[in-house]
Amino acid sequence: MTKPLAFQVLDSPISGRGAFAIRAIKKGERLVEYTGERIPHPVADERYDDDAMDEHHTFLFTVSSRTVLDASRGGNEARFINHSCAPNCESEIEKGRVYIFALRDIKDGEELHYDYAYERSGEETEREEAQYRCRCGTKICRGSIMEPRADYEKRVRTKKRKLTLARRERDKAKDLYALSHATRRSVTKAKKKATGR
Ligand SMILES: [Zn+2]
Repeated sequence: MTKPLAFQVLDSPISGRGAFAIRAIKKGERLVEYTGERIPHPVADERYDDDAMDEHHTFLFTVSSRTVLDASRGGNEARFINHSCAPNCESEIEKGRVYIFALRDIKDGEELHYDYAYERSGEETEREEAQYRCRCGTKICRGSIMEPRADYEKRVRTKKRKLTLARRERDKAKDLYALSHATRRSVTKAKKKATGR
């Protein structure tokens, strides 16, 4: 992207530094690509030991179940965009690349943010909850930069439903297999009887 950025990086009241619009931005505008080194999840886990940190402060963006972008290496200004529970931007993944779009019209000077919604594992400790606490200060703040619990629960339910369906299919296949074998056995038996062998 050669277009000049629509924002600049300054100190933020939310956390550390943030991205602030330097002109009016239109809803739907693509603002920047989130860049960084593409690494597999285990490498990211190795690089950033959550237990050793008091607060979440990595520049990781999960692209897929395999890949994470580490913006601390090869990252651009996009890594300074803060989280908010009432964001004015959103991230979108297109063919493995991540872009930040304006969710609504944004005024010159406004801070940009999107909902990080980090995926929950369902086993977050108190310490992790504290590391990922949200300070966006909006009226609808859910208190965490991790995804809403309801989203996690919904994902678990969907996964369970898929598993149940898969299991049912497998059982059906097993029954069919057993049936065909049983039929074959009885046919063989009948044939044996008939031939007297
Ligand atoms: Zn919040």
